[in-house]
Amino acid sequence: MPKPPSSRVSLAEVSRRTGALMRRGDAAAVQDRPQLSDITECLFFSPGDGRIWLNDQRMVLMHTRSLGTLRRELIDTLGLERARGLLTRTGYQSGERDAQLVRERWPDGDLTSVFMAGTRLHALEGVVKVEPVEFEIDPERGHYHGEFIWHHSTEDDEHISAYGVGTEPACWMQLGYAMGYVTGMMGCLVVFREVECRSMGASLCRVIGKTAQAWGDVSEDLRYLNAQDFLATRSHGSAPRAVLGSTALADGSGDGMVGVSSAFKAACHMLSRVAPTRATVLFTGESGVGKEMFASTLHRISPRRERPFVAINCAAIPEALVESELFGVDRGAFTGASASRPGRFERADGGTLFLDEIGTLSLVSQGKLLRALQQGEIERVGGTRAIPVDVRVVAATNVDLRAEVQAGRFREDLFYRLEVYPIHLPPLRERREDIPLLLSHFLHVYAQRHGRRLAGYAPRAVRALMGYAFPGNIRELQNMVERGVISADEGGVIDLPHLLRKEQLGEGTLLSLGAHGALAEAAPAEPAASLFERVAGPQADAIDLAAVERQLLAEAVARCEGNLSAAARQLGLSRAQLAYRLRRGG
Ligand SMILES: [Zn+2]
Repeated sequence: MPKPPSSRVSLAEVSRRTGALMRRGDAAAVQDRPQLSDITECLFFSPGDGRIWLNDQRMVLMHTRSLGTLRRELIDTLGLERARGLLTRTGYQSGERDAQLVRERWPDGDLTSVFMAGTRLHALEGVVKVEPVEFEIDPERGHYHGEFIWHHSTEDDEHISAYGVGTEPACWMQLGYAMGYVTGMMGCLVVFREVECRSMGASLCRVIGKTAQAWGDVSEDLRYLNAQDFLATRSHGSAPRAVLGSTALADGSGDGMVGVSSAFKAACHMLSRVAPTRATVLFTGESGVGKEMFASTLHRISPRRERPFVAINCAAIPEALVESELFGVDRGAFTGASASRPGRFERADGGTLFLDEIGTLSLVSQGKLLRALQQGEIERVGGTRAIPVDVRVVAATNVDLRAEVQAGRFREDLFYRLEVYPIHLPPLRERREDIPLLLSHFLHVYAQRHGRRLAGYAPRAVRALMGYAFPGNIRELQNMVERGVISADEGGVIDLPHLLRKEQLGEGTLLSLGAHGALAEAAPAEPAASLFERVAGPQADAIDLAAVERQLLAEAVARCEGNLSAAARQLGLSRAQLAYRLRRGG
């Protein structure tokens, strides 16, 4: 976890900052990040695609009534204790995910703001309005103390409508969220307790959070968090976000073997299962999804890793040469074969042979391949003896081999031989959660390769990519980022025009929250012309340097409501300098 700077934040400080935020509404006065507007920018809707995103996490809008039914049925079937534990842990997970989002998106964020971001996310997600009473944070010393009031909690609404007012607090999921978020931020367990709750007849809910150490006995609280599992499996602050499919995959650089989506993880899981065996593996999926990368990873994590990995794209070799490429040639086999040479099979002996686009092999080559697979031996072209080979064959195809069999273009027996262990690699549009990870991975790779320093991506560029169909899959994304790294300004961000042409954006409409909470179209495809272009570019507006200065000064003065000293400070000028420039500009 990127450690926030250590500091103690007093009550006065908190209320100064949050008061300022609430008064201003748009938080523009406060420079500390993330502000409320930064957080709402993470939420966007892709209705055409059936997805809602909070940064890179998929979300759903759910009726609180259904949530209430689910909650009631859990209580009725499992009993109060177990239902409470389940909901607390579910909430904990959401809180932890949101903490992860904030840590990664604002690694240098202001300490108070990153902690407050949890309360804002909780509100943005529609769960509860959080009003801070006081909090003190000192991550260095492992100190946390916070008190908050919860207004109109959804959980209480549902609990009260099902069970009426009782004697116990009922905001379990919300409490779990608070624990998950703050624990994720602090890197040590912080326990929240609900000391007043609407479900107990109070007018508001009040929660207090302290470190487990400061509370003393937290065994009661831990019961709902399933403490054993929790303490045994969590290592806060160290868990890398870019999870590779399994630990076995983590040692290699695995160019692009990055993802957290369930589709990607499922493929990785299958890969690590089959790697130690000698089974034939067939990768299926559209072109550009990373079949060769998976194949080479398979080799790297298999017991054959010390032996050669030989790859051949069957579609890239003229049909007449495929056989000699694969199986080798014996001297005198045909005119021009003046020397004997081994084929790819022999060169891959003891290792792995990757046959890409296997669907394009001729029926004759298919027969020879089948023999190699069945008997572990090959015969060179023009040769007379069988040569034993120990090769693990890994194949890939982007066509439907079963359909090829039906059409008589692919041998059925070979098909079944290859299909022992098929692994389907999903297209990128089905693993959109991985797009942000891949973006940062490739940015790192290409910035290093081309010696560029860049500040990342413009939010609207990321939003647009989240809605883009990626017909060319990961390879397309990879090329896009490389182009972006080269064409963006040094020290600047990669923006939409560096990545996509306007006509590529087309269909998928993305909506994000406007200033007043209503959905509006996100990411205009065309950026406003840069200041330079407006003044000096070929399509320069009727705007000159003096006009730019006048406009700048006027805007500063207007923003400061006519206060010249304040406007001058904003512009880095003295009051006298500003007054002079205003006079000069008329
Ligand atoms: Zn409550």
